[in-house]
Amino acid sequence: MVSPPRRSASAVKQLGPILRMAARYKGRWIAAFAFLILGAAATLSVPLVFRQLIDQALLSGQDLANVFLLLLGVSVVLAMATALRFYFMSWLGERVVADLRSEVYQHVLRRPPQYFETLQTGEVLSRLTADTTLVQTLVGTSISLSLRSLVLFIGGMAMMLLTSAWLAGLMLGLLILVIFPILALGRTVRKASKDSQDKVADTSALAGEVLNAMTTVQALGREDYEATRYSKTVEQAFTVATRRNQMRSWLTAVAIVLAFGVIVFVLWLGAREVLAGSMSAGQLAQFVLYAVLTAGSIAALAEVFGDLQRAAGATERLLGLMQDGEEKVVSEPAPSTNRLNGRVAIEAPVTIEFDDVWFAYPSRPDHWALKGVSFQLRSGETLALVGPSGAGKSTILALMLGFYIPQRGSIRINGRSLHDWGLAAVRASMGLVAQDPIVFSANARENIRYGLLQATNAQVEEAAKAAHAHDFILALPQGYESFLGERGVRLSGGQRQRIAIARAILRNPPILLLDEATSALDSLSEKAVQSALTQWLPSRAGLVVAHRLATVRRATQIAVFDQGECLAIDGHERLLQYSPLYQELSAHQFLETSG
Ligand code: ATP
Repeated sequence: MVSPPRRSASAVKQLGPILRMAARYKGRWIAAFAFLILGAAATLSVPLVFRQLIDQALLSGQDLANVFLLLLGVSVVLAMATALRFYFMSWLGERVVADLRSEVYQHVLRRPPQYFETLQTGEVLSRLTADTTLVQTLVGTSISLSLRSLVLFIGGMAMMLLTSAWLAGLMLGLLILVIFPILALGRTVRKASKDSQDKVADTSALAGEVLNAMTTVQALGREDYEATRYSKTVEQAFTVATRRNQMRSWLTAVAIVLAFGVIVFVLWLGAREVLAGSMSAGQLAQFVLYAVLTAGSIAALAEVFGDLQRAAGATERLLGLMQDGEEKVVSEPAPSTNRLNGRVAIEAPVTIEFDDVWFAYPSRPDHWALKGVSFQLRSGETLALVGPSGAGKSTILALMLGFYIPQRGSIRINGRSLHDWGLAAVRASMGLVAQDPIVFSANARENIRYGLLQATNAQVEEAAKAAHAHDFILALPQGYESFLGERGVRLSGGQRQRIAIARAILRNPPILLLDEATSALDSLSEKAVQSALTQWLPSRAGLVVAHRLATVRRATQIAVFDQGECLAIDGHERLLQYSPLYQELSAHQFLETSG
C-alpha cells in the first residue's frame, strides 16, 4: 500500500516534487511574479501618497488635485496587477494539478498485481480528486498569497525603518519573538490535516466498494447497514476535520492577537513622539498604514502556513502512490520481433518452456502455489491445464503474463526468459480470455477494438465473426454501436466471453491464454465459443485452463495439476488409463458441451 509518512522531512522538502512539476512553466511564473511585484509596489506606495496628502495637500493646501490623481493612478495599477497575477497563478494551479493527476494515475496503472490485491479503489480516487485539489490551492492561491505577503512584509518593514528606525526596530524584534508560538501551532495543524484527509479517503474507499457490489448489497437487504456504516465513517471524518479547524482557528487567533498587540504597543509609542513634536502627523499616518500592511501580511502568512501544511500532507499521500513498487520486469526489446499496438511483440512460431518453476504468492510466502512445474508448448499446440480448484492452473497464466516472478526455475519463450524479452514484448505477444472477461462501459465496437487500438471497423467485424460474436452484436438495438453497460451488465456470460475472444483474435497474437468459464453457459453460447476456439486455436500456442470436456479433448496435451504439482502430461485416452485424478475429473468435474 502507501508508504509510511516521513514525518521528519520538512513541509517544504515534501513539496519539492510538486515545485519541480510547477517549474516546467517558467514563462507563466515570471509573468505572475512580475505582476505580483508590481501589485505589491503599488500597495506599498499608498502610504507614501497618504503622507503627501496629509503633510502637503491638507496642511499646506498644495497639489490637492495631483495627489488625488496619483492615488487614482496607483489604484488602477494595483487593480490590473492583481487581476493578472490572479489569472497567471490560477492557471499554474490548474495546470500543475492536471499534470499531477495524470502522473499519479499513470503510476498506479503500472503497479504489479499484489498492489491491487490490497488497494481500495475509492482511496486512490479520493487522492486523485481531494488531495490534488489541496495542491491546486497551494500552487494557485497559497504560493501567490505568501509571496505577496512576504514582499509586503519586507517592503512595509523597510519603509517603517525609513520613517522611524527605532520604532520599526522595536517592532521587528517583538514580531520575531511572537513568531515561534505560531510555528509550533502550525506543526500540530499539519498532522491534523493529514489525519483529516486520511478519513476522507476512508469514506471514499467504503462507498467505492459498496457501489461496486450493489446487487449483492440489495439482494441481501443490507442498504440500511451500509448507510449506517458510511455515516459512521463520515462522522469520523467530520470529527477529525473539526479538530483540525479548531487548531487552525487557534493558529489564526493567536497570530493576529500577537501581531496586532505588538503594533498597537509600538503605535502608542509613536503617538507620544508626535505629541512631543519629533514626528509629523503625515509620518505617523504613513507608519500606521505600513504597520497595518505588515501585520496583515503576517496574518496572511500564518494562514498560508496552515494551507502549506495541508498541502504537504496531501502531497505526502500522493507521492506515496507514486513511489513504491516500480515495474520490475522491464528490459530492451529483442531483435526477432514484430509490432502490436505500437509495442514490440514476439514473432511466431514460438516455443514456451516452463522449467522447474517454483512459485509462492508474495502475500503467502510460505505456501508454494506451484511446485517444480515443467512443460513445453509450441505453436500449433494446445496445452489444457486441468485439476481441482486451487491446484495452481490460473497461477500458470498469471506467471505467463509476467504478473509475478517465480522464486525458482525459469519461464522461457524461444529460449529467452520473460525477463530478457521485457514485459511489454511478452504481453504484446499474448491474447488473454479471462474466466470472467471485463467489458468496459463503451459500445461493442470499442470493446473489441481494445485488443488492437488501430484496427479498422472491417477488422473489428472480421474478428467478431471469427469469435462467433457478429450475429448477436448485430441483433443488439444499435448493432456495433450498442452501449454494453458498465462492466458489460447488458450481456450474458457467453456473450461477454465471445467479446473477449474477438478482442484476442483482433490482436492476432502467437500465444493465446484462455481461462474457461467454470459456470455452464447456455448451450448456444457454449457452442459458439467452442467453434470459435476450434477454428482459431490450432494455429497458435494455446494455454487453456480447461473446465470442459470438449476443450480437453481438442487439446494436444493435457497437464493434470494437484496442489501446485504437475502430476502428468499426456493425451486424454492415455490419462484415462493411468491417472486416477484424471479419471475422477472426467467423471465428475468436466462440464459437458452439447454438440
Ligand atoms: P480454480 O480452478 O478454482 O480457479 P486454480 O487451479 O486456478 O483454481 P489458482 O488460482 O492458481 O488455482 O490458485 C493456486 C493457489 O494459490 C491456491 O491455493 C490459492 O489459494 C492461491 N492463490 C491464488 N491467488 C492468490 C493470490 N493473489 N495471493 C495469494 N494466494 C493466491
